[in-house]
Amino acid sequence: MKTIFELARGLCITFFHLWTKAVTIQYPTERRELPDRFRGSHRFVLNEGNLEECVACCLCARCCPSNVIKITAFSDEKHQKRVLTYELNLKRCIFCGLCVEACPKDALKMSKDYELSAFNPNTLIFSKEKLLSGPEVIRFK
Ligand code: SF4
Ligand code: SF4
Repeated sequence: MKTIFELARGLCITFFHLWTKAVTIQYPTERRELPDRFRGSHRFVLNEGNLEECVACCLCARCCPSNVIKITAFSDEKHQKRVLTYELNLKRCIFCGLCVEACPKDALKMSKDYELSAFNPNTLIFSKEKLLSGPEVIRFK
C-alpha cells in the first residue's frame, strides 16, 4: 500500500512539473545572469589616461593565500612607482578575492568572465597586458 502511495505521489510531482517553466539554459547562445559580486577572472582598472591604476605596492601579492601573483616595478619620470610586469597564475588561483579587497587603489577587479577553459594551461598565466584587455575592460569611475 505504501509503495502505491509513493508511486502516486511521484507521478503527481512529475505531472506538476510538466506545466512549470523549464530551467535549462541553452548555453552558449543563452547566458545566465550573474550576480554583481560574481568572482571571475581578474582585470586591471584603467584611469582616465588609459593607464593602469596599479602603483605596484605588492599588497595583493602579499595577501594572496595561493602565492600566485608576481610583480616587478619601475619609477616613471615623475618618480612614481609603476608596474613593469604583473603575473597572475590563474591555474592555482582559488578566486577568494582577497587581492581585490587588499588593493588600496581599487586597481584590481574581478570580472564576470568565467570562460577560462584552455587547451594550453599556460594561457591562464595572466600578464599585465592580458589584465588590461579581455572581454571586459573596467574603467575607473
Ligand atoms: S583571488 Fe585569491 S587566490 Fe586568486 S590571486 Fe587573488 S588572492 Fe590570490
Ligand atoms: S593591484 Fe593594487 S594591491 Fe596589487 S600592486 Fe597594484 S595597487 Fe598594489
